[in-house]
Amino acid sequence: MQTIGFIGLGNMGAPMAANLVRAGYVVKAFDLSADALVQAKEAQCVVAMSASDAAQDADVIISMLPAGKHVHNLYLSGAEPLFDVVKKEALIIDCSTIEADMARSIAELAIERDIDFIDAPVSGGVGGAQAGSLSFIVGGSAEQFEKAKPVLESMGKTIFHAGDHGAGQVAKACNNMLLGILMAGTCEALSMGVKNGLDPSVLSDIMKQSSGNNWALQVYNPVPGVMKNVPAANDYQGGFQVDLMFKDLGLAMELSQKSASATPMGSAARGLFNLHKSQGSGALDFSSLIRLYS
Ligand code: NAD
Repeated sequence: MQTIGFIGLGNMGAPMAANLVRAGYVVKAFDLSADALVQAKEAQCVVAMSASDAAQDADVIISMLPAGKHVHNLYLSGAEPLFDVVKKEALIIDCSTIEADMARSIAELAIERDIDFIDAPVSGGVGGAQAGSLSFIVGGSAEQFEKAKPVLESMGKTIFHAGDHGAGQVAKACNNMLLGILMAGTCEALSMGVKNGLDPSVLSDIMKQSSGNNWALQVYNPVPGVMKNVPAANDYQGGFQVDLMFKDLGLAMELSQKSASATPMGSAARGLFNLHKSQGSGALDFSSLIRLYS
């Protein structure tokens, strides 16, 4: 059985690593947070002393880090760049959401060193990571995609091949721009309904069965008390941070600028999340945007 080095055991990485253990892989896990390492041990991961300890003997290395600068640092520019320690035949799968250009340039450097590096950002949230039902959106060669598929299938249900290196990140930025717009619109509609005397649960049921139906209404309602097991039911702790949604909308704006694509809705959503973040809500789940409307 293959050994997997897993780096980044946050809201998403921890349940993903646990699913790999359940699938029978030996998972050597590392995070900068001591609490995350305790949780990893409870999930039967082998706790590594450092990222290079997790990666050096691994057949597959998976990273699940906040942003591009962390990924660049891990593989290329940090104290112990993993490109200097991984086995030649190792496959590196970066599941973080980062700049498409950065994913492409890291992949180019990997090719020069005979290392396989692919981008495989995910969709499905913490619930999807826990249930092993994530979607993976892969950018890489057809051969690399086939090599990665069995591992990704242990953490997800749908594995897409978006295209060559960086394509996974382009598709992810498009998806998350739409998600930001949908969450903002859902918060706006629910707030207006409540201020006009409607019960948010009743209004949510109506819109779910009507043309306003969307993912936020189906599985991620932003109003406390409407759904169980969502961040809104837990004071917006856990889940997908406002900081990360703001980062993703920034990635979308970069793509929009480079390709001269008009994205006025994405830009408006970014402005809303920026305002919410500036009021001290960066660490809350992104569905807390509804507080901006109250
Ligand atoms: P998170 O902040 O909960 O976790 C990130 C983890 O990385 C933290 O535990 C942190 O300590 C660790 N870390 C940072 N630098 C490190 C380093 N150098 N070495 C080891 N560990 C390091 O974030 P998350 O919600 O798990 O998201 C991770 C990525 O997945 C982000 O790129 C995000 O955009 C993307 N994503 C998140 C969700 C979601 O719903 N949370 C959904 C899809 C995609």
